[in-house]
Amino acid sequence: MVAILPTDPRGGSRPMPEATSTAMLEVTGFDPQRFDRNARYAFELVLDGAARDVRLPVQLLRGAGSGPCLVITAGVHGDEYEGVRAVLDVCADLDPREMQGDLLAVTVCNPPAFWAGTRCGPDGVNLARAFPGHLNGTATEVIAHHLGRTVIAAADFLLDLHSAGVSLLMPTMVGYDEGDRRSSEAALRFGAPVLWAHQHVEPGRTISMAAELRIPWLYTEARGGGRIDDRDLEVFRRGTVRLLRHLAILPGEAPLTRAEHHLSGDGNGDAALRATTRGFLVPHVRLLEYVVAGQPLATVLDLHGRALESVRAPASGVVALIRAHPVVSAGDPLFLVADLKT
Ligand SMILES: [Zn+2]
Repeated sequence: MVAILPTDPRGGSRPMPEATSTAMLEVTGFDPQRFDRNARYAFELVLDGAARDVRLPVQLLRGAGSGPCLVITAGVHGDEYEGVRAVLDVCADLDPREMQGDLLAVTVCNPPAFWAGTRCGPDGVNLARAFPGHLNGTATEVIAHHLGRTVIAAADFLLDLHSAGVSLLMPTMVGYDEGDRRSSEAALRFGAPVLWAHQHVEPGRTISMAAELRIPWLYTEARGGGRIDDRDLEVFRRGTVRLLRHLAILPGEAPLTRAEHHLSGDGNGDAALRATTRGFLVPHVRLLEYVVAGQPLATVLDLHGRALESVRAPASGVVALIRAHPVVSAGDPLFLVADLKT
């Protein structure tokens, strides 16, 4: 048992509640409910199998009274930093004495990818497609197995914080399950400028894992680019606090907010338009621009300026993803066109 001193990552002067922490815990058998209330904890969850060297950084805030448990996952992709920062900031600001219920947050779900600065870890497996995982699989599959069974399974509500990562550009948004009022009601209070209603979620994701367990969920996206935009960080921080209020874990109101855009559809990044050749990408449209079927979205040029490929909208809709890194290889995702919610 090692006590971890309370810290404020922003160097603020707000007195932090005393931390009662255990440095390392075996992930198997980890149960947030068995820790005393009215306290904050910082854990390194020790995994096993092919992920035996992985330590999952977890913060647990147990409120003074009983209530729901919000689970936040950040860093599922290793090149998305807004959620990591939001978790650090929100956890530092919260006082368990003011909470009715719990917050269980994994600051970085995929440490091998995070420390490599890449979307996926060295095994090349996309953690956001690996759920429910395999105990005897690759490191990423073992991470998915334990995240699903131990962390997500502990949730009364799951918030999965993503962004566009280093190579893509996405709107600052919150995605929700249109078929679950618990999810849609929360989305309307999160306060993101763009909402995305999902009728269906492909398997393998944190949110599909949650849905299988009947746990309501939200996920976010943001600009990305390997940087943290202050506006995105504010949306994530404020939205998380509003969600905690909406779930009555924190006191206070979480009023309905009005989004600037309301998108719909699968929003499956795997269905993005992809480059068919190597080249230099010149986009002709902006994020959230309305496009019609067949409209040119971009041209892929060779290095003499000759067009190698014209990328056209497969359907009418709103541009919801643009590749921001202009050097492309065959197979790279370039665009996603989403439906407008009617
Ligand atoms: Zn992501």
